[in-house]
Amino acid sequence: MEFRDRLLLENRAWADEMSARDPEYFTRLNHGQAPDALWIGCSDSRVPPEQLCNASPGDLFIHRNVANLVADGEAGFLSVLEYAVHVLAVPHIVVCGHYGCGGVAAACSDEPVPLAHVDAHIEPLKALRNRHRETLDALNGVSARINRLVELNVRAQVERLAELTLIRTAARPPALHGLVYATDRGLLESVCYREPEPLAQAVPA
Ligand SMILES: [Zn+2]
Repeated sequence: MEFRDRLLLENRAWADEMSARDPEYFTRLNHGQAPDALWIGCSDSRVPPEQLCNASPGDLFIHRNVANLVADGEAGFLSVLEYAVHVLAVPHIVVCGHYGCGGVAAACSDEPVPLAHVDAHIEPLKALRNRHRETLDALNGVSARINRLVELNVRAQVERLAELTLIRTAARPPALHGLVYATDRGLLESVCYREPEPLAQAVPA
């Protein structure tokens, strides 16, 4: 069966199943969204946010890119963040990395990346690696270094998020969660957490 035919067939099977389970399911979703969180994750096909959180359509507003970066120089990323924080007013933002991340591995290597766009995208990761070079080089083995950089990257992205004007000016500042997904066990681990910033007090007249 051709890929497109398989996609359409699988979609029809899923839609029929959801409607059979709950006849009002799509009607409710059609009315709008109020997701619990903005999820910033890696594009890796093995890290699907909804499945691994047991979540459903409508639960997560999602942005994915290579190595789950807070790409605050890109309109695509900023538009997702702006809408999530200033329109949907999500109470939580999750940055989720994963062990064995290919983007992080590329930044760990001394070999140049032969893909211009990937190379430009992971530039902040290379800078992060250079800042922590001593710690990383002290670890035993390439995969230990990659996995440590995965964790450092999640922390760095959460810190970067906290500094962004879009977050700092939110009427309802979100809590920021840093997670790492262990692809070999299917489990999420918490790496860091930042409480929501207190709302700015109005200055008395
Ligand atoms: Zn990845």
